[in-house]
Amino acid sequence: MNALSPRVQELLLHRTGLITEEDLKLLSEKERTELILELQRLSTLDFLTGLPNRRFFETDIRRLVERRARKGGVPFVIGMADVDHFKSVNDIHGHKVGDSVLHVVARCLSRGIRPEDRVCRWGGEEFALFLECVDNEKAFEIAERIRASVERSLFVAEKHGKEFKVTISIGLVDSSLIPLNMPPNKQIEELLFFADKALYVAKNGGRNNVRSADGPSNRRQWTHQEPVPIEKRKK
Ligand code: GH3
Ligand code: MG
Ligand code: MG
Repeated sequence: MNALSPRVQELLLHRTGLITEEDLKLLSEKERTELILELQRLSTLDFLTGLPNRRFFETDIRRLVERRARKGGVPFVIGMADVDHFKSVNDIHGHKVGDSVLHVVARCLSRGIRPEDRVCRWGGEEFALFLECVDNEKAFEIAERIRASVERSLFVAEKHGKEFKVTISIGLVDSSLIPLNMPPNKQIEELLFFADKALYVAKNGGRNNVRSADGPSNRRQWTHQEPVPIEKRKK
């Protein structure tokens, strides 16, 4: 942000209301380019945590899954992470402290993955992971490290200054559960569904743990069937 010229900073930080055509006319060509690039960057981020947002993540992983299909099935793992009993954190400590918990959890996630992996804030207190070229065992190790780093983090309650902790649960699914000939969009939809199911198992298993999805064999061929809406599927 510091590198931006003053007029662009003015428009992005201090301007109340939307940017108008008149505002744009006052900018030089270079400033307009800066503005476009900065707006593009901001549109990929989640404002609270600074992580990529869901829209960017979904576009990004669709590209990676398409590449995987072309390369003949380089494996990957998708994960869904969710803060345990987060509603109680808000209820007990207030929304502001809740926000700072999300910020720290996001940091544990982004520090816990490797440079080739992806993470995003999926929404609320949920985060999605894309771990490249890993099997379930390696992915489990990465997820477990992230889970443990959240568990070690200490937070301070505003009311009485006492420390408290939070935990997360993570559900994982290995791409080999999905037939390679399935269209990329469908693969992602299916994998997210299985990751969510594994997360549900992690929650039912007492929370603060990592679970991997087991599913039908990867060797089956995909044949088109009428889609079943997610809400009608059996958990
Ligand atoms: P579980 O262990 O089953 O996941 O329980 P939970 O309490 O975490 O789940 P639940 O879905 O009941 O509550 C999620 C809460 O997350 C409710 C909502 O107010 C809170 N939340 C969602 N987004 C934000 C946010 O941006 N900031 C804060 N502070 N709270 C948020
Ligand atoms: Mg949730
Ligand atoms: Mg939760």
